[in-house]
Amino acid sequence: MQEEKNLAPHIEDINRALNEKLSEEQIEEELRTYTDRYGVPLGSAKRSIVKKYDGDPQELYISTEKKIEDIEGDEQGLNLKCRVVSIDDKEIEVDDQPKRIWYGIIGDDTGTIPYTLWEAKSIELEKGDNIKIENAYVNMWNEKPQVNIGSKASVKKIDEEEVPEFERQPQKLDLKDIREDMQDLEITGRVLSMEEKTVNTKDDEEKQLFSGVIADETGKAQFSAWHDFGICEDDVIQVKGGYVRSWRGVPQYSFDENADVRFLDDDELPEAEELQETSVYTISDLAKRGGAVDAIVEAVMIDIKSGSGLIFRCPECNRVIQKGACRVHGKVEGKADLRVKGILDDGTGALTVVINRELTEDILDYDIDKAMDIAKDEMNQDVIRDEIEEKLIAQPLKVRGNVTSDDYGLMLIADEVDRQSIDVEKEAREMLDEVRV
Ligand SMILES: [Zn+2]
Repeated sequence: MQEEKNLAPHIEDINRALNEKLSEEQIEEELRTYTDRYGVPLGSAKRSIVKKYDGDPQELYISTEKKIEDIEGDEQGLNLKCRVVSIDDKEIEVDDQPKRIWYGIIGDDTGTIPYTLWEAKSIELEKGDNIKIENAYVNMWNEKPQVNIGSKASVKKIDEEEVPEFERQPQKLDLKDIREDMQDLEITGRVLSMEEKTVNTKDDEEKQLFSGVIADETGKAQFSAWHDFGICEDDVIQVKGGYVRSWRGVPQYSFDENADVRFLDDDELPEAEELQETSVYTISDLAKRGGAVDAIVEAVMIDIKSGSGLIFRCPECNRVIQKGACRVHGKVEGKADLRVKGILDDGTGALTVVINRELTEDILDYDIDKAMDIAKDEMNQDVIRDEIEEKLIAQPLKVRGNVTSDDYGLMLIADEVDRQSIDVEKEAREMLDEVRV
């Protein structure tokens, strides 16, 4: 039996499209004839009526049902029958008031699309629910269309049969290509390390977090799983439906109970040892990516910043002190430290590299005590920085470490600095070989 529809908004819609050529009663009669007697879907019925009376169906404001692949990005009055692929909630601020919204991915047999539900839910939605959304609107977010279910929209649960079966098809991605703010991604990787911890969420809820490093043949990424999928170190997993968030300046593949996790055969990927080998990135790639975990950069040191060499830190807060005074704690007895802050350039871009005391001692070939003695003899702590400049400026380096990004650009925190590894002759030979090929 055909359910009793609220036709009033559609009658009004047709009326407007036809410039009130017909009376509301005439329109209602036409509409009921099409939908009830002939079983024509509402959308087609509306278009047919408008055409029949020489109107333009494009003028219909309350558009009717669309498939996800047909969504263009500026729809108003959109209706969709779809399945909830994922749902999460978060609190945002609207006019200084906290407001809870729901968001995730919906899908039909033609594709998937992100959505945001802006009003308190009249029904509890769960992953897997089949729903009919009416009168939603679409806008562009991160250059992709997103369905917005606002105050004028409604959401109803419908029977499973009304939404055809479909296979979720997230975007497949190599780990080296993950970028901040991507969503609905599929990755495959081997878990190189993992730890479990309890964290407090913003809502002051305790949650178990499983995080670590995952690798494929293209690179490594940090991951966090907000659900216990039973993942162990060395597992090869395929994760569908994760998203990328930046954590302390490094993009991280994250997933929760909405994701599908499959355990693959061990031989799907090389052994952990092989995958541990760190990938070399260009600086422009790192900038696009927004940082990386355990990366190698091959570049030339073009500048050594002030604050490099022998420095003194406040014993209270560890800030570098100037002329024996911390800008927070005043006059203090500084602790000596050695470090290098420099600029590396690889021809595609530049980044700041920070080299700690231990690695700086290796570069100088003497330890901090000797550095102190030298500075005392010269009555000048800058001599150490001068020596570092002499050793590093214009020097090609291979530096390994985590790369973070913020408003000031990229920063590489060195774990290893290799001055010998770039074999100029070998590179020249390789270039010659390439030319010959
Ligand atoms: Zn201090």
